[in-house]
Amino acid sequence: MKRRVSGHDVVGLSVDAETRCVHWHGPKDIIAIKFFCCGQWYPCFECHQGLANHKPQVWPLKEHDSRAVLCGACGFELSVAEYLSGQSRCPACSADFNPGCAHHYHLYFAVDAAHGVETTAQRSQ
Ligand SMILES: [Zn+2]
Ligand SMILES: [Zn+2]
Ligand SMILES: [Zn+2]
Repeated sequence: MKRRVSGHDVVGLSVDAETRCVHWHGPKDIIAIKFFCCGQWYPCFECHQGLANHKPQVWPLKEHDSRAVLCGACGFELSVAEYLSGQSRCPACSADFNPGCAHHYHLYFAVDAAHGVETTAQRSQ
């Protein structure tokens, strides 16, 4: 249920040493995400869904400098902004992340129109 990865407790189903889980276990599925609602690291949305007993909340735009993405390959913590603009690659170790994750950004982060994904958070203006 919980695994220590680079000094962080990652909660999920069958979490491996690089934060893959039972849902996402391809070679590039090596990031964990800290959820805004609980501050806990999870490998994916489904793991949070299954194990946390509360509704998930996305990172608001103004919190996008928070370090909320963990590279499972080297343990570097990316800020949300860094991750969203990072071409699916770790800025520290250049490990490739799954580019398909872009389809799921809105589950974790409030994203603006520039990313072509509908935001689930209310706009402030
Ligand atoms: Zn949570
Ligand atoms: Zn999972
Ligand atoms: Zn890395």
